[in-house]
Amino acid sequence: MTTTTAPSTDQRLYSVADWYDAEALLTTEERQVLGRLRSFLDAEAKPLLAEYWERGEFPEQLARPLIDLDLMEPADLTVDAPARGIFHGFRIFELARTDASLATWYTAQAGLFRTAIRVGASTEQQREWMPQVIDFSLKGVFSLTEPEHGSDIAGGLSTTARFEEDADGGSWVLDGSKRWIGGASTADVLCVFARDTADGQVKAFLVDRAAPGVSLEKIQGKTSLRMMQNAHITLENVRVTEAMRLHNVNSFKDVAAMLRAMRSDVAWIATGIQAGAFEAALAYVKERQQFGRSLGSFQLVQEKLARMLGNITASLSLVVRLTEQQGWGIYRDQDSALAKMQTSLMMRETVALAREVVGGNGITLAADVARFHADAEAVYSYEGTHEINALIIGRALTGASAFTN
Ligand SMILES: Cc1cc2nc3c(=O)[nH]c(=O)nc-3n(C[C@H](O)[C@H](O)[C@H](O)COP(=O)(O)OP(=O)(O)OC[C@H]3O[C@@H](n4cnc5c(N)ncnc54)[C@H](O)[C@@H]3O)c2cc1C
Repeated sequence: MTTTTAPSTDQRLYSVADWYDAEALLTTEERQVLGRLRSFLDAEAKPLLAEYWERGEFPEQLARPLIDLDLMEPADLTVDAPARGIFHGFRIFELARTDASLATWYTAQAGLFRTAIRVGASTEQQREWMPQVIDFSLKGVFSLTEPEHGSDIAGGLSTTARFEEDADGGSWVLDGSKRWIGGASTADVLCVFARDTADGQVKAFLVDRAAPGVSLEKIQGKTSLRMMQNAHITLENVRVTEAMRLHNVNSFKDVAAMLRAMRSDVAWIATGIQAGAFEAALAYVKERQQFGRSLGSFQLVQEKLARMLGNITASLSLVVRLTEQQGWGIYRDQDSALAKMQTSLMMRETVALAREVVGGNGITLAADVARFHADAEAVYSYEGTHEINALIIGRALTGASAFTN
């Protein structure tokens, strides 16, 4: 059993934003890894963020050094020994506290793609692929959403997979399109979900990004998560072997199991974004003088600081408890939906308050709250919108599914 000890106040990584000291649940070694991540982000990432956000480009030069920090876990810890959930959560929190795109980039591999392999691949497939997933030598993305089907993807998914026999045993042929796929332009493989024309069930395939018939187009003009690259993907007569099909995905129920496991990562992102915006706003109001006093000394500003801290503390409490439950093997749709919905709601309020107390400077990238404010909108909508998560919770509470009412 892992034992943890509460660090003394001056050793804490999150002395302000983590008010109730959830960090005490981490081991000393885990805190050291987070400390190294923090040092790298402060020294190498932060100076680039405003410029790359404005350019709408991902700072690719950060990818290799971030991977070399062993962000997941040593490759010998594979299928049966994933990182402790609380540590995984805090890594996401630390990344999001610096930048939402960096956190999204990390969870695209460590959350979405890894979960697709963990839940969807057979034991043999996992033994082959998981070490490469963990060390990022096989980079993958989760290609579920379609141009015409977002919230209603379960029933609406229209990309097709057709098995064609031939002398060599045959192969699958994929046709359709995918939208919003994060990180696709730099991935090795796209994990594409498609409906088998023979039995009507959803299956999953690892498609080589450079395969004939695959074309990617960058989604331009985003006003949120500008650094993260999202692609519109077209698949025309794309051939995939049976060996590259995830053998444990045989219906949308298996995809739902993936979503259930991944949604808690987004709740950690929504919590980390709040911490980043809050810390930047707090530093600003302590420094900036108006009416001959610091902004932070005004009652009305303090009330906003207190609300932000309340939101962050409630969010952290939610994700920590959810992560503990998942560590005991308890995964329920309504639990991760509740965490994603509620942390996202509080995130929207927190980043708006952070932007507000910074005044006019709060809409510039220089003050470091504008980026969080803008990026929060994408996080609010992806991996289940507010309404869809509310409907999942409502169904669990009442037994009545209201998705089409
Ligand atoms: C930045 C970003 C990154 C993303 N990354 C990925 C990725 O890597 N892989 C991937 O597969 N997808 C990805 N997505 C897609 C994301 O999951 C979808 O955007 C999301 O599921 C919502 O779908 P939609 O945008 O089509 O909205 P729609 O489904 O069109 O919904 C529009 C609005 O209608 C509401 N609505 C829909 N149905 C109902 C209903 N029954 N009752 C009440 N209200 C309803 C929604 O809540 C929303 O407010 C990403 C999206 C974004 C913005």
